[in-house]
Amino acid sequence: MRAGVDIGGTKVAVCLASPSDGAGPPPLLVRMSEPTVKSGQPGALAIQVLSMLDAACARQGLTRDKLAAVGVAACGPFVRQAGLIELANPNICGGLAGAPRGLGNDWTRVPLEAPLAHALGQHRVRIANDAVAALHAERCWGALHGQQDCAYVTWSTGVGVGLCVDGRVLGGKNGNAGHAGHSFVGDIPGEPPLCGCGNRGDVESLVAGNALPWRLGQSAAELLEAAHKGDATAKTQVHVLCTLMGRLLYNMVAMLDLRRISLGGSVFLHHEELLLPLLRMELSRYFPVLTEGVELVSAGLGEDVGDYAALALLD
Ligand SMILES: [Zn+2]
Repeated sequence: MRAGVDIGGTKVAVCLASPSDGAGPPPLLVRMSEPTVKSGQPGALAIQVLSMLDAACARQGLTRDKLAAVGVAACGPFVRQAGLIELANPNICGGLAGAPRGLGNDWTRVPLEAPLAHALGQHRVRIANDAVAALHAERCWGALHGQQDCAYVTWSTGVGVGLCVDGRVLGGKNGNAGHAGHSFVGDIPGEPPLCGCGNRGDVESLVAGNALPWRLGQSAAELLEAAHKGDATAKTQVHVLCTLMGRLLYNMVAMLDLRRISLGGSVFLHHEELLLPLLRMELSRYFPVLTEGVELVSAGLGEDVGDYAALALLD
């Protein structure tokens, strides 16, 4: 039995599964999720993960020492403490951007690998950035199967990217390759909004699900629903969002010569029919030599990509 743990800025999800038979994603035997703990001591998140693993195992009549391996897909960025991964995520660590973001804690980093390795054994734990893990899952079982030059992009609470070039998934010195959500693609009128990372006006601060209530006074769901119903102001705002996201996608293609990009995340998947054509249109506006034939597609694993991401780290 294997476990997958998906640590996001909004929720932590745990699943149990047997190894994949190779033909498709492994059937999930247990799935459970809870809101991400963001109060108390920084060690609270690892304690939450371990107690959820215990609860998931109990449902199968197991104890966690019977787990063969635990994959952990965690929102980044990562920092290292004595070589072990800690999380410095803007949607969990309130100390990164300070009180104006209102997360209610002053954490700047959260220990993860050390407490999990201590409790489970280092050899049983594999941790990767969630978008990188989702890229693995999409390459194993989803829309990026067989792709050598590709990326996975999640447009959700935050914006995350996993990158693969020449068949190699990119990691980087701290496993942070693909943090394109904290890059810059252009300005909007007025004071640039504050990202949870402390940047002002980066992609995540402009288009992410957590940014829109701050910036536009409505949630992504409300905005996209209004645009879907034909509200002219909402449609204009959605076009602006897709212009910004489209530029990000173009920059990735220009830098890495990608062939296919798979898109997921709750903001995108709930309004794919509205967003995908706009993103494709935006990408196709730029340097055709680089963008011709590049495919933007919806995540093959759909809403389940998060569950499978952590398990794909173990294959
Ligand atoms: Zn940022």
